[in-house]
Amino acid sequence: MSDNADTEPCEWCGDAVADPLSRTVRVTVDRSQIDSQRLCPECFANWIDRFEAEMKPEEPDPTPDPTPASDDTDIIVD
Ligand SMILES: [Zn+2]
Repeated sequence: MSDNADTEPCEWCGDAVADPLSRTVRVTVDRSQIDSQRLCPECFANWIDRFEAEMKPEEPDPTPDPTPASDDTDIIVD
């Protein structure tokens, strides 16, 4: 369809997304990268929403986990 070399598919929806519009998100825990995805702006917004929902600290939890996953987590966006 397109011969634009700067266009690659979004890892979520598969839509072609031009390089200047793409977002690459990286999640690191204890300085180790655990996730990296190249997303279109729409999926990026959804990803952030989902990530923040998962990381929500005030989640009611009757059995507290002794090793919370959100301790040293960073989101890096290029
Ligand atoms: Zn997408």
